[in-house]
Amino acid sequence: MLKYAGLSPSSRRSFLQASAVASAGLAFRVWTEPLLAGAAEKTFSENAVLINLNENPLGPCEPARQAVAKIAAQGGRYSVSLTEELTRTFAANEGLKLEYVRPYPGSSDPLHYSVLALTSPTMSYVTADPAYETGMRSAEVSGARVVRVPLAPKTFAHDVKAMLAAGPDAGLFYICNPNNPTGTITSHSDIEYLVANKPKGSIVMVDEAYIHFSDAESAIDLVKAEKDVIVLRTFSKIYGMAGLRGGFAIARPDLLAKPEVYAGTRYMPITAAVAATVSLREPNLVPERKQINAGIRTNVFEWLDKKGFPHTPSQANFFMVETKRPAKQVIDALAQENVFIGRVFPALPTHVRVTVGTKDEMDRFLAAFDHVMSHG
Ligand code: PLP
Repeated sequence: MLKYAGLSPSSRRSFLQASAVASAGLAFRVWTEPLLAGAAEKTFSENAVLINLNENPLGPCEPARQAVAKIAAQGGRYSVSLTEELTRTFAANEGLKLEYVRPYPGSSDPLHYSVLALTSPTMSYVTADPAYETGMRSAEVSGARVVRVPLAPKTFAHDVKAMLAAGPDAGLFYICNPNNPTGTITSHSDIEYLVANKPKGSIVMVDEAYIHFSDAESAIDLVKAEKDVIVLRTFSKIYGMAGLRGGFAIARPDLLAKPEVYAGTRYMPITAAVAATVSLREPNLVPERKQINAGIRTNVFEWLDKKGFPHTPSQANFFMVETKRPAKQVIDALAQENVFIGRVFPALPTHVRVTVGTKDEMDRFLAAFDHVMSHG
């Protein structure tokens, strides 16, 4: 006898769908940038231009590479103290108490776990749209209502007043600053306003994955002020360590304890821990890489402006271009030219997201984009 006998046809369908999702392990999948892009399954040729996942083409800095090579021989040991040293280094740099910083192997994990812990069928997940989608997927698992609030026109900043109005039952407000996929900034005063006016019991999560590329002010001061705020940081972006995996959740200890219940180990791979620690000790790494990225981005913007393609006022290592035709068409046509850009973001169906690669990669992108846009 099948388990679903006695269910109505539509419940039977949902039951079968839910079982399929569960047996495929999707319910507990943490959606990362490559998974969201469907890029995890693809193979690319050696000379492909990969400006699809907001990665950093520079990779880890030289001292980080050396630290990784040197620690490899100790890979047989757990060496948990290396993650502790990293956490102490970060906390000291930021003027945070140690118990306000929780290391994770990347920031996707704490993002996913925070949504699981802080949203539910009666506590909604309030996000901008378009925004980074991981939390929306996680909210499907927790059964929370996903409240999508359009970004403000022109500035593409989070519209915090509209988010407050739309989320009287919010469990979690998600602010990505700079925002993925637009690269745009939400002001610190707007984030403060959200925190001051949010419904009691709700939490504001500020995802600062790309903050080092921008002039945005961090929300870590709100954590220090004991507010209901969780800040996420990652080593995947300006530090060029997406494949090594390192990140932090930063919040009051009682807030850090909530996602923690879903977390596995407290420790990062030793390669990531040493690479991250030495990267934090490189005083020029962030300003130099910020400048390199901004220089290449400015050149691309000048070209786009000259050719009449509007783009978002991005301060990050990616931006969106208005193509005035379905994004999928442009993405597919560029792929034919061996240039791979970001996925479709349905809230902006005629915009495409492009990561800032090296100068050479961006020259190849512009040549391919020119060709695609001038050939129907
Ligand atoms: N948050 C945002 C906005 C991102 O774009 C990404 C990755 O692209 C992440 C978090 C997670 O990155 P990771 O898990 O590599 O730290």
